[in-house]
Amino acid sequence: MQKISDWGNYPVVEADVSGFDSAEQLRQKLAVPGQVIAFGNGRSYGDASLQKRMLTTRRFNKFLAFDESNGELCCQAGALLSEILDVFVPRGWFLPVTPGTKLITVGGAIAADVHGKNHHVDGSFGQHILSMDVMRNDGSVVTCSPTKHAEFFAVTVGGMGLTGMILNATFRLKRIESAYIVEETVKAANLHEIMDCFEASMDWTYSVAWIDCLAKGDSMGRSIMMRGEHARDADLIKPAHKSAPLALKPGLPLAVPFRFPNFALNPLTMNAFNFAYYNKFRSGTHRHITNYNTFFYPLDAIDKWNRIYGKRGFTQYQFVIPKEAGREGMEKILKRITESGLGSFLAVLKLFGKQESFISFPMEGYTLALDFPISQKAMDLFKELDAMVADYGGRLYLAKDSRMDAAMFEKTYPNAAEFKRAVAMLNEGETRFASLQSNRLGITS
Ligand SMILES: Cc1cc2nc3c(=O)[nH]c(=O)nc-3n(C[C@H](O)[C@H](O)[C@H](O)COP(=O)(O)OP(=O)(O)OC[C@H]3O[C@@H](n4cnc5c(N)ncnc54)[C@H](O)[C@@H]3O)c2cc1C
Repeated sequence: MQKISDWGNYPVVEADVSGFDSAEQLRQKLAVPGQVIAFGNGRSYGDASLQKRMLTTRRFNKFLAFDESNGELCCQAGALLSEILDVFVPRGWFLPVTPGTKLITVGGAIAADVHGKNHHVDGSFGQHILSMDVMRNDGSVVTCSPTKHAEFFAVTVGGMGLTGMILNATFRLKRIESAYIVEETVKAANLHEIMDCFEASMDWTYSVAWIDCLAKGDSMGRSIMMRGEHARDADLIKPAHKSAPLALKPGLPLAVPFRFPNFALNPLTMNAFNFAYYNKFRSGTHRHITNYNTFFYPLDAIDKWNRIYGKRGFTQYQFVIPKEAGREGMEKILKRITESGLGSFLAVLKLFGKQESFISFPMEGYTLALDFPISQKAMDLFKELDAMVADYGGRLYLAKDSRMDAAMFEKTYPNAAEFKRAVAMLNEGETRFASLQSNRLGITS
């Protein structure tokens, strides 16, 4: 037994955690009756990959096939996105979709159907899966795709590990000419300006905004948009970039060496950080070349940054509300967050494109993600925010959640009841895929 948590360090559980090197070993582990869940790299924030018995996939991380003619990669589900990038960026290929950290597994990317800064153009990660093998609770393996065992495929993408263990997946990487990004930063004075900016940036492949959730009054929602495109050969100017466009100098990540005391994060320190961050950027629009790590993964440069929230841990509140409700809804919700003074220095705003999936999080609309140190006040605030999010037709992201209740899940995910039925049917037998989260949300019991 060991103590383990996901990225938010809340909750922490005592669990029997073990890995496997082959499908046969996994099958033997699944023969043991009871509830069990897959654990990728623990980068979901709450309890989605926690359970009394957890099966870690990281050792199951081999690349199985690559087709240089079209970028099709088949790899085992424990491979990290960073491992894929390390091998394939120097050969001129990039991920079709990537979240704000590359330290997640392919299995975790499919199970949470993760999104990136290009959702409005390229959709979510699951939409790029051509085929995958999934081991069911009875040890049988289903090869599924959008056209083969399509219903099983649809509940597994975004299904948070509740339908089986993803063993491997095939998806297509995209061609790049360099490891660099042409980035434009745009400073917006308030929420309306940044929303206008998103709507005017739909033809950029990548867009995201860092929003200062502590600014109030006329400045509420002041933000910095970062939008970008993969740099072509012709975009590179510096000799060092031009001579080796696909190579990046390795940099050692900075580390947060220990857990901060709980008092290190308070409105004063957060205010100071937000102010300094906002003022670092000049007004207007600025264009420059940056490398892909700086553009996509700024937080990965600080190893174990989750420790700054101290022992009590933290959670991320990420919601999406439909685009039509966006202006009014986002303003009201943001106002409540800024009034509370509990919001984090990390708040990310993004406009999603359309998405038709069975159980995935994204829908066409605005999504905002904020970190909150765990406290009773924050928990009370979340209840109020949940009601507003639900009223505006929105929902919360399961990959970030550690506290939503079953009623909120059922109300806001249109296929919740059908998903629950499908999971129950697929879990018939002695071994059942279930997480602390799925038990809390009433999907499993
Ligand atoms: C700094 C940071 C930034 C982030 N940015 C984004 C973002 O921009 N967009 C976004 O969408 N997400 C984002 N996330 C969330 C993260 O991408 C997801 O939570 C992802 O699922 C984590 O993958 P993991 O491999 O760590 O899996 P875990 O966190 O260990 O597990 C996540 C879920 O996947 C299931 N799972 C894992 N492997 C398998 C498998 N082989 N078979 C079946 N089920 C499996 C688990 O049971 C669990 O339900 C971010 C997280 C962090 C820490």
